[in-house]
Amino acid sequence: MATKLFDLTGKVAIVTGGNGGIGLGMARGLAQAGAAVAIVGRNEAKSADAVAELTQGGAKAIAVPTDVTDKAAVAAMAERVVRELGRIDILVNNAGINIRKPPHVLDIAEWNSVIQTNLTSAFLCSQAVYPAMKAAGGGKIINIGSMMSIFGASFTPAYAASKGGIVQFTRSCACAWAADNIQANAVLPGWIDTDLTKRARHEIDGLHERVLARTPAARWGAIDDFAGVAVFLASPASDFLTGTAIPVDGGYSVMG
Ligand code: NDP
Repeated sequence: MATKLFDLTGKVAIVTGGNGGIGLGMARGLAQAGAAVAIVGRNEAKSADAVAELTQGGAKAIAVPTDVTDKAAVAAMAERVVRELGRIDILVNNAGINIRKPPHVLDIAEWNSVIQTNLTSAFLCSQAVYPAMKAAGGGKIINIGSMMSIFGASFTPAYAASKGGIVQFTRSCACAWAADNIQANAVLPGWIDTDLTKRARHEIDGLHERVLARTPAARWGAIDDFAGVAVFLASPASDFLTGTAIPVDGGYSVMG
């Protein structure tokens, strides 16, 4: 029973930004649970490495080079996944960037770039996979938010707007597509050691120490901390769970 609850054998997952960081941690979990995985990102060398790793672990995996801000490219990506892997059951909207500047300095091109990469991409990808999920009899959408989905910071106006938007977009999809047996949930990571935050550690004085002091678990998250939540939200174990936003943060968001 327990194994069936988390079994993804025969399922097909798309992970945007799955070639590194949190996306790769989730792709590893999904692959270990039996899913075939399509890795979606722009950097073809990084995607080839991720596919090689998953394939060596015994999973079926393909790379689909795509800029997730490009509507036509996203549509072509979804078509290719159905053509090569047969169906789409799971979508992880994880691709994301940040530009750290206060609101009075951030320019409109920077604002648009962050919103399009972090938020509009989730809309484009979800819309593109919806017909395949419906045809498959249901599906699972996992959107990656942030602590900036619930808190603000002086240097993250566009990022926080995009991540707050991700939570509301998730709730809307959960309501719209429940009748199609599609569950949509968000994951809100705390501070995780990835390429994205390596730069922040350099740019923000004292960040490393502040993260350790503020996080009850007293460590940065690792990308493999996201394998379990990905499997849970992609599997029958979460079939009555939809529209939620689950912090995976070592307790960061509950520290008083
Ligand atoms: P990384 O920089 O390691 O990964 C970001 C991924 O997004 C890369 O795989 C990149 O692939 C992909 N990506 C970016 N832009 C595009 C695009 N236009 N088209 C396709 N893919 C794109 O960062 P993280 O793993 O840290 O971040 C993953 C997600 O987690 C993001 O949404 C981030 O906001 C969120 N997050 C991270 C936290 C952390 O502490 N690390 C905390 C909270 C949230 P490529 O370059 O090949 O396109």
